[in-house]
Amino acid sequence: MAKTEVPFRILPRVTDLNRFYWTAGRDGELRFQRCNACKYFMHPPSVLCPRCHSKDLGIEAVSGRGDVHTFSINYQPWMPGLEPPFVLAVVRFPEQEDLRVTTNIVNCAPEDVTFDMPVQVLFEAHVDDEVWIPLFEPSTNA
Ligand SMILES: [Zn+2]
Repeated sequence: MAKTEVPFRILPRVTDLNRFYWTAGRDGELRFQRCNACKYFMHPPSVLCPRCHSKDLGIEAVSGRGDVHTFSINYQPWMPGLEPPFVLAVVRFPEQEDLRVTTNIVNCAPEDVTFDMPVQVLFEAHVDDEVWIPLFEPSTNA
């Protein structure tokens, strides 16, 4: 992929704790930490389970399908490259009621985004930086 095809984006700081999350898109999967003791999914990554305090944590892929819990349309040009209007959203997942990510909704007009709209993950690859940003688009078979 040519560098010019990838829009400018301020990338997350990848650490040993969160690397699995930011690189899972290389395999086309959305992955979260999951407690092996109580099976609680957690995000963002942590060193212990917020529910049972276990440190026995694994990493598990989810379907990558969810829906729009809440969203806002941003019209402010905060930074070059991230051209308004764009949709900032919280997406939730059927795997666990309180498992949510803050993300952008893409591949549709901002005014077409609605609450509870089914969405699916796609990844914006920043291959040189080894970061795959999880974004969401309208689900193809809702
Ligand atoms: Zn737990």
